Amino acid sequence: MDETEPSPLPFPTSLCHRCAAPPKYVRTKTSTFILCPLLPGKYPPQPVLRCPLFRPRGTHE
Ligand code: SF4
Repeated sequence: MDETEPSPLPFPTSLCHRCAAPPKYVRTKTSTFILCPLLPGKYPPQPVLRCPLFRPRGTHE
């Protein structure tokens, strides 16, 4: 596990955390939003459990 995140991420079950898109975390004082760079809506309803644009991060193929 990577422990470098300064605060816990929301929706631990979300696919976005493991996505190669990559998602961008937008932090406010009270919460963190997950911004998807691929979806036109940018903020998919969380947690995203299935996504047609999901590609796993960390594979080098
Ligand atoms: S492509 Fe899907 S899984 Fe990946 S960040 Fe966007 S919404 Fe999340």
